[in-house]
Order: sequence, then C-alpha cells, then structure tokens
Amino acid sequence: MNTIEIKGVSKLYGTQKALDNINLTINKGEVVGLLGPNGAGKSTLMKIITSFITPTSGSVIINGIDILEDSLTPRKSIGYLPELNPLYGELYVREYLEFVLRLYKTGFDVKDRVDEIIHLTGLTPESHKKIEELSKGYKQRVGLAQALIHDPEILILDEPTSGLDPNQLVEIRNIISELGKEKTVILSTHIMQEVESVCDRVVIIHKGKVIADDSTRNIWKYAGTGNYFEIEFKEEIDESLLRKLPFVINVSLKENGKWLVEAEKGKDIRESLFVFATDNNIHILSLMQVEQSMEDVFHSLTLNS
Ligand code: ADP
Ligand code: MG
Repeated sequence: MNTIEIKGVSKLYGTQKALDNINLTINKGEVVGLLGPNGAGKSTLMKIITSFITPTSGSVIINGIDILEDSLTPRKSIGYLPELNPLYGELYVREYLEFVLRLYKTGFDVKDRVDEIIHLTGLTPESHKKIEELSKGYKQRVGLAQALIHDPEILILDEPTSGLDPNQLVEIRNIISELGKEKTVILSTHIMQEVESVCDRVVIIHKGKVIADDSTRNIWKYAGTGNYFEIEFKEEIDESLLRKLPFVINVSLKENGKWLVEAEKGKDIRESLFVFATDNNIHILSLMQVEQSMEDVFHSLTLNS
C-alpha cells in the first residue's frame, strides 16, 4: 500500500521556486533519505508533507487522504522532528512529553506511554531534568520522543543528527534504524554516510528538483560509469598509453601516486592492465576495482545539474 504520494508539488516563495514539480511515492515501511545541499528544498518538502505549509501547486495524499482537504487525520499518523526543534526549555522532559501526548488525544495511558518513549529514546538518565539543561544530543532525543509519542506510522525527521558529536550521532542513527524496521521514515540530511547507514532508498534533491531516486545500493551509478580501477606502478608511466587501452574512458593520477582508471560500464579491464604492464616492462605494485564513495556521487550529481 502506498503511504505518501507527492504529486506535482511546487512551492514558490515570492518569485523563488523552492520546489519545482516534485513527484514521489513513498511506500509503507520504506526508510527514505532526502539528500541535498543547503537550500535544495528538503525542509520545504517536509513542511508540506506535515501540513505546516501549503504547496503553491500539486497535492500530497497520505494513506489515501488528500492533506489539502483533511490535514487533521494525516497528522495523527505522522511524527515530525522539525529542523529547528522548538522545545519548551523551561519544562521538564517528562512534563513536556506528557503535554504533547495529551494534545493528540490518543487512548494511551499518559504515564505509561511517556515512560515507554523515554526508555526507547534513551532519555532515562536525563528524564528528571529541564529541557534547557540538556546537551544537544539529549535535546535531540526529546525531539525524537515528541515525534514518536503518539505512535505514528510515518516519521518525518529533518536533519535529525545535525550538530551532534560523533558519539551522539551514532546513537541517534541507531535509534532511527531501529524505528525504520516498523515505520515509514523520511529523513533529510546532507551527509552521504547517514543515508548509507540508515536508509533503503535515497532521493537526491537539488534546486527544488529530484535529480536521483534509487535504492541506496544503486545510487552511485548516477555518476559516471561507477566502474573504476585503481592501479599503482613501480615505474613512471605515460598517461596516454593507459588512455589507449580498450574500454578506458578516463585516467587520472591521484595524490597518493596511484592511477584511477574509469572503464566502460561492466567491463573488467584488469587483464588488459596486466598485459599492458608486461608488454611495456612495467611492474604493477597494486591493482583493484574500486567503488566511488557516495560523497563523490553526490558531488558530481549536483555539479552536473
Ligand atoms: P533545505 O532544507 O534543503 O536546506 P529549504 O527547503 O529550507 O532547503 O529551502 C529551499 C529554498 O527556499 C532556499 O533557497 C530557501 O532560502 C528558500 N526558503 C525557505 N523557506 C523560505 C521562506 N519562509 N521564505 C522565503 N524563502 C524561503
Ligand atoms: Mg533544511
């Protein structure tokens, strides 16, 4: 069953197009990374899905309900962690979560449910404190807790790990990965690694447009052929000779003295590299097929568009 259908959504701020005809279907249970540089439109799209702002054109259907016609029903099935998480600093953690839960008018026993969520988000050691007394990492856990409190089926998390130190970041990612087993999650990030570690699918947006949408495993294919070989020779070699080898598309010398050779998609050129070396009396010190990092992919995708 489809959970979220985004159809032709555009958003104008004055004359500026923050979103330009976005079409996406997100299925139940998917964990989708919305990836893009600052200003790409990630937060705008999330605010539209959560009914905090309305699109200039287009529609969003959540579990069969058009949110422009009925925004209340979909909101009950959505938990939202905004980019700038507006917490009430003067409230105690438990007090705040009880307050949020009461707003939703669920059937939960308030005390039991708050206990459960405090435990789930790892807030137990800090739960007696005021929110303003918490570290950034724990504040973020409170933000996650308020998004989860009414047990929504869909979680929309806007840069949930931004500004966290490496330990906190790993812990929050682990919580999100756990949640992703049961829920539909859309999280935004500008960090490739985050997508790789948490998401099944990545949607890259740039200047308000979707420029790539695929499984996390496949996303590298959008930049170049994705077929690279790294080779190190004992002797100095003539670059033009490498370029002449069959199926070779591009050759560059890396800072570490190794050559990066891009070949046509699916072609294994290791054997011809060996033959090349033998024919020219050159010694190979190392040779391996390498994958592009997500960071590289992101870079070339946003540069090309
Ligand atoms: P991201 O979350 O990917 O960084 P945003 O959705 O916040 O991107 O912003 C997309 C574009 O829309 C940016 O150019 C931003 O400056 C602009 N924008 C966002 N919110 C507003 C607003 N309230 N008024 C005017 N322009 C806005
Ligand atoms: Mg943003």
